[in-house]
Amino acid sequence: MTTAQTTELDVQPTPLALLLLGREADPKSERGVECPGDLPSPSDPDLVARARAAKEKLGDKVFVLGHHYQRDEVIQFADVTGDSFKLARDAAARPEAEYIVFCGVHFMAESADILTSDDQKVVLPDLAAGCSMADMATAEQVAECWDVLTEAGIADQVVPVSYMNSSADIKAFTGRHGGTICTSSNARRALEWAFGQGEPSATKVLFLPDQHLGRNTAVRDMGMSLDDCVVYNPHKPNGGLTADQLRDAKMILWRGHCSVHGRFSLDSVNDVRERIPGVNVLVHPECRHEVVAAADYVGSTEYIIKALEAAPAGSKWAIGTELNLVRRLANRFAPEGKEIVFLDRTVCFCSTMNRIDLPHLVWTLESLAEGNLVNRIEVDKETEAFAKLALERMLALP
Ligand code: SF4
Repeated sequence: MTTAQTTELDVQPTPLALLLLGREADPKSERGVECPGDLPSPSDPDLVARARAAKEKLGDKVFVLGHHYQRDEVIQFADVTGDSFKLARDAAARPEAEYIVFCGVHFMAESADILTSDDQKVVLPDLAAGCSMADMATAEQVAECWDVLTEAGIADQVVPVSYMNSSADIKAFTGRHGGTICTSSNARRALEWAFGQGEPSATKVLFLPDQHLGRNTAVRDMGMSLDDCVVYNPHKPNGGLTADQLRDAKMILWRGHCSVHGRFSLDSVNDVRERIPGVNVLVHPECRHEVVAAADYVGSTEYIIKALEAAPAGSKWAIGTELNLVRRLANRFAPEGKEIVFLDRTVCFCSTMNRIDLPHLVWTLESLAEGNLVNRIEVDKETEAFAKLALERMLALP
């Protein structure tokens, strides 16, 4: 595979347009559904007071989780903030909370439902808050891929490793086929574990659904070559690969990406270095390989936050991750004399994360305070059992 090939973005049709419009009717999918309730007007001057009053009324019965990429207007009501896995574990550690309000996206709410007790109800304030990356790998497509691997005679050598940013169905597939989940912090350990599951020279990993995290971890962190990786395109017969290509590969990367991190380019890095001499470029591993290769530092959202906390006064940073987080970090560290800018010149919010706004949060909290359970996200028992197996393998990683 050439570097030019790795820069290619997935332009296949995805349900993203529906998701953005929020007009579908399948609450089990990442695709959105229209919010069924009467939302307060965004211009209502009492929204903050209303959210506060409803939250106070609910007391310990409610626990509000705020993902790092959420808007400030929502984050101010979060009991904890963090990445998706930390938040799911935080929710599990609060069994007294009957309602877990997840200010994040659909797959995160599913993971929280999997990891919390049966008595806890997970609520997503806007069902249209899905994730375009998670949508790029459906259960049917992944089952078909497994058939292709079986026909190529390699399925028994393949260990699936799925990124946390995947639907419960994909996590369950992973658990069923002996694989593990990973986050952007432990992807290397997950891959090392996977390659240790069989004869190392014969074992292969099917990495879902983010090709960039898979490639960056294999090549940058583990010393594999780009030629060790092939990209399985679910929109092409046999993934667009021959049986020989599959047999020769060590990493079979699913053709998915994050539409936010996928926007950063080598030009963004070159441009910011020219504009801000001495700038440190720090990017998330969901960015494309050439961006990661050109950056000074690479790491998860938690890594980015810690790196900026430890940065000396007067240092300059260009950050390649979601804009809500970068803006908050820039404001937080400005008084310490740290200059933090967004890596790209163009604005780059996660549009689905941004679906959760104050009107949706107020509507959710007031509904719960009145005893109406709305927008519950519930994973069926069988899916939950296999998904949990894959998550537990991750928790047991050395
Ligand atoms: S930032 Fe990317 S991976 Fe995260 S929810 Fe948005 S589209 Fe999905």
